[in-house]
Amino acid sequence: MRFSGLRILKEGLTGNKGWRAHWRDPEPKAEYDAIIIGGGGHGLSTAYYLAKNHGMTNIAVLEKGYIGGGNVGRNTTIVRANYFLNGNSEFYSHSLKLWEGLEEDLNYNVMHSQRGLINLFHSDGQRDAFVRRGNAMVNQGDDAILLDREGVRKHLPYLDFDNVRFPIYGGLLHPRGGTARHDAVAWGFARGADMRGVDIIQNCEVTGIDIENGAVTGVQTSRGAIKTKKIGMTVAGRSGQVAAMAGMRLPIESHVLQAFVTEGLKPVIDHVISFGMGHFYISQSDKGGLVFGGDLDFYASYAQRGNLPMKEHVMEAGMTLMPMIGEAKVLRSWGGIMDMTPDGSPIIDKSHIDGLFLNCGWCYGGFKAVPGSGSVFSHLMATGTHHSEATGFRLDRFRTGVGIIDEEGTGSQHNLH
Ligand SMILES: Cc1cc2nc3c(=O)[nH]c(=O)nc-3n(C[C@H](O)[C@H](O)[C@H](O)COP(=O)(O)OP(=O)(O)OC[C@H]3O[C@@H](n4cnc5c(N)ncnc54)[C@H](O)[C@@H]3O)c2cc1C
Repeated sequence: MRFSGLRILKEGLTGNKGWRAHWRDPEPKAEYDAIIIGGGGHGLSTAYYLAKNHGMTNIAVLEKGYIGGGNVGRNTTIVRANYFLNGNSEFYSHSLKLWEGLEEDLNYNVMHSQRGLINLFHSDGQRDAFVRRGNAMVNQGDDAILLDREGVRKHLPYLDFDNVRFPIYGGLLHPRGGTARHDAVAWGFARGADMRGVDIIQNCEVTGIDIENGAVTGVQTSRGAIKTKKIGMTVAGRSGQVAAMAGMRLPIESHVLQAFVTEGLKPVIDHVISFGMGHFYISQSDKGGLVFGGDLDFYASYAQRGNLPMKEHVMEAGMTLMPMIGEAKVLRSWGGIMDMTPDGSPIIDKSHIDGLFLNCGWCYGGFKAVPGSGSVFSHLMATGTHHSEATGFRLDRFRTGVGIIDEEGTGSQHNLH
């Protein structure tokens, strides 16, 4: 079933009877060539690219809930390639290029909107850091434009420029940054994978990983045992728990990250904006809601809802930056479980167990990584070698200390990532 303008016209004229479910609802088979644990963005894109780029179609994605119920459907949808350090910058650049062709590739409207992202700075020192970041982005082949105060004012006239504590000095504009509709990304990849023969199995929790003589032989699930020699683990906030099924202890802590949306308003915010003096970022959804978020809850937890002190903190930062936001009514807030690594960068690697591949540690930045992660992880699973754009995401960097990709320069303080 291909989507097109002509198809919509035809269906509209014939009572919309020709639409089919976007993916099948198959029973699990007894055995697959590969199993992906976790049907979030990373699991679905991995399955899609395994089938599309590597011809592996006898595979299943096992999802304990429903497609889109995890972080892939809970994030603030920011897509960007403005990373500074080697290791991250080439990977996110690769991912953004995939985003730019994604809707055509998937034949699915994921509402990718390159509306521009502006990171604000509020001191000379912060400007220097953003100049360096911008230069690194340009060297990587991405786009960055340094704006002075008046340049920011032209784009974002409604900000509080003269706030006595945090006056705005300028901003770094990343024109190709923007947003996408999060759950449509999951649905698009699910449909694309299903069309190529991948079984997407919802309500199927993996409860154990079978290992014999140092190699995986299958998984135990809430719907029975399934054999396989290759497992890709893409379970985001549950990475520590699922890895423990294989006897592994990962350098990962799970923390809740909250987000908020207001009632629908007329268009008021055209860009994605990130405050430089507090953890606060905001954009406006196509439905009109102001979507914004802040920092992690500072303690580890598996809850999917947050706490009041963090809500207060985020609202304060929003009011400081753009007092007009106080007029809007917050409609709802929610949380997702973040898989935080000590250096704030992901892990895409083989494990010491033959056939067990790890994809985790996306912290609070893994939505923009969805296409890139699927492309490089499928490469690793299919060929056994690292993709050229993801050679830095090795697990052993946390043991040896070599190759740490500490993007924010915050060392091992998770709450400062
Ligand atoms: C509030 C919030 C805001 C965010 N904002 C952004 C942003 O603006 N930009 C950005 O780039 N990133 C953002 N992120 C981060 C991003 O959403 C995540 O890094 C990314 O979605 C994680 O990968 P995923 O999509 O595969 O995770 P998920 O969608 O969580 O997928 C993992 C899946 O594994 C399943 N699972 C777990 N255990 C098992 C099991 N035992 N058996 C079977 N299935 C299992 C879960 O049910 C889940 O569906 C944000 C996250 C949150 C919560």
